[in-house]
Amino acid sequence: MADCIFCKIIAGEIPSAKVYEDDDMLAFRDINPQAKVHVLVVPKSHFATLAEMNDAQAELVKKCMKKIPQIASSLGLSDGYRLIVNQGEAAGQTVHHLHIHILGGQNMGEKML
Ligand code: 5GP
Ligand code: ZN
Repeated sequence: MADCIFCKIIAGEIPSAKVYEDDDMLAFRDINPQAKVHVLVVPKSHFATLAEMNDAQAELVKKCMKKIPQIASSLGLSDGYRLIVNQGEAAGQTVHHLHIHILGGQNMGEKML
């Protein structure tokens, strides 16, 4: 999608600190980290929310979820981590390309959830 920042990152038009990539997804460090480790996992198909997701995109999300333990392990998150998927404006979603936040590297106990 033309003006989607994550589509541009996937296309290599905007640089990112990549931590994992395959045909289905890209994982890169958040530019404004909210934890010591903050990585975004982004399926390589543009859709904003789960409500807009088609079956092929659901397969990509499944692949992302199955890959996240390996990505987390590569980031040293052996003690655990938190996943967040913001859905829409009220949740604070600012980039309208579905993405899974991986947050960790510290005790997350004082944050929401
Ligand atoms: P949301 O609030 O939509 O769930 O999360 C969007 C995230 O994308 C934010 O945490 C924000 O810091 C991150 N972000 C926005 N623009 C960029 C960018 O150009 N590069 C990277 N690496 N992260 C970005
Ligand atoms: Zn996009």
